[in-house]
Formats: sequence, structure tokens, C-alpha cells
Amino acid sequence: MDFSSLSYEQFHNYFSTEDTCINFLIQTKWPEGFRCPHCEHRHAYVTTTRRLPLYECSRCRFQVSLLSGTIMEGSRTELRKWLLAIYLFSRTHIGTTAMELSTLIKVTYKTAWLILHKIRTSILQADNQCPLTGSVQINSAIYGKPFNPTVHKHPQEHLLLVGSSLNDSSEPTHIKIKHVIPSHPTNKHIAKNDLATFQKNHIEHTVKAIQTITGFYTSKRQRPLLEIAKQASTWMNTTFHGIGARHLQSYLDEFCYRINLTTSKIPVFENLIKRCIFNSTAITNLF
Ligand SMILES: [Zn+2]
Repeated sequence: MDFSSLSYEQFHNYFSTEDTCINFLIQTKWPEGFRCPHCEHRHAYVTTTRRLPLYECSRCRFQVSLLSGTIMEGSRTELRKWLLAIYLFSRTHIGTTAMELSTLIKVTYKTAWLILHKIRTSILQADNQCPLTGSVQINSAIYGKPFNPTVHKHPQEHLLLVGSSLNDSSEPTHIKIKHVIPSHPTNKHIAKNDLATFQKNHIEHTVKAIQTITGFYTSKRQRPLLEIAKQASTWMNTTFHGIGARHLQSYLDEFCYRINLTTSKIPVFENLIKRCIFNSTAITNLF
């Protein structure tokens, strides 16, 4: 089933019981049947008398719960609420807020915030595992208002570097937007070492073709990248009424995660649920 295309009501109705959610998670975690994380044996004794099934490897006796290694591990929140949260988070161009989530799944604001925070940690892992490759463009941008066309940075302006891999037609295929904190608070230019840090952390080391524009008013600036930064700003301002410096990076990562999957025509919910389930283990082929 293509869960990403379901409406909220359809999704809500499909995952109406904890048993449905448990079966869905088992199928997603072990699509080819149980595999012991310790010795890779394919058979386990299953205890089903608890809230969630517990698996004990029949060879090495290693015990693993359905939620081991997932972002849901240790949570007392019902699975159907977690799945609804991941579904709402997956909505392209929208996502969800802690306020909306707490109302829809009937949890406290604090719990909703924590759930979203956990989902964002799995996105951070996704971002770290996918450096930019091939032909790469980088352009500086600014998030925040008021727009201030002077040489000094306003405290509410935040410097960004927008990087993208390009296809043969020079169109962006995989985007990263990173918040750059200048060494001096009023510096409104991207320093060489900030650019070097971006390249080191977010571009594959073998990449040779990197085109970089860090001037804000040059005619060479790369408009498709600036347009994406503008879309990210609009989303953060309309959905969250603006984001402060402290959390800016995780919202930028969230925006890029969804837009990158959409560009690659990968269903967001299906990808995100795997990220959330395999949170603490190495996964590299989910893009
Ligand atoms: Zn085992």
C-alpha cells in the first residue's frame, strides 16, 4: 500500500488498532522474517503477553523488542500515535507543528514536541549519510527579517549556505541548506573557513567540480538555489511563525529532506518510517 498518498482520515482509519501497527512495524523491520541482530539466526521464540512482542533468538538467546533501536524505544505513547505523527511530518511542503500534533493525536504539547524532536534526529542521520556528489553548486543566502541591505548583519538575519548536486541539465537534484554562524555577530559575509567547513562536512571528498557564489548582490548568483532558500523561509515563517537561531538547522534539514525525496519521487512516509525504525543502525541505501 502507498501510505504517502493516503488522506489523514484514511491513514487514521487504516492504523486504528495497536495490532495493525505492530504487524506493520514487524513487516517493515523484518520484511524477510526475523533476523537476530546478534548472530543473524532466522528463528526466535516470541513472547506476546506484553504490550509489545519480545523476541528471543533460539540460537544465542539474545532478546530484542520490536522497538529496539527505533526512535520509539522506551516510549509509552501508543504506536498508532507515533505512526500518525510520522505520517503528518511526511506531508510535503507542510510537515506538522507540535501544537497541531498534540491536538490531532491527543498528547501533551511536551510529548508532541519530543516526538517531533526524535523524528528530526533520524533526519539528521539521513543528512549525514548523504553528502553532495557529482557536480555541485553553492550559493549564500539569508534567512530572517527585516531584510537589511547594509554591510552589517541584523541580529534577526541568519547566514545560510545552500548547496546542491546538479543533473546534466544543471538542475538541483539534492539540496542542503546549512546555517552559518559568523565569527563576529555583525559579519554579513561567508568567511573562507565557513565555506571550507561546508565543503568538508557536506560534499563528498572526491567531488572536483564545485561552483561557489558567496556575494549577495552579484549577478552571478544562482537563482534556483536562492528560490529554494526562499521556499524554506516561507515554510518556516508561515508554519512556525519564524524559527530562531537555536533550532534553525534542524528545520532546514527537515525542509531539505522532504524536498530531496520529492525531487527523487521517493514516497516520504515510506522512507521516513524506515529511518525511524533503523535509527541507531547503519543504513545507507534509503535515498
Ligand atoms: Zn542470535
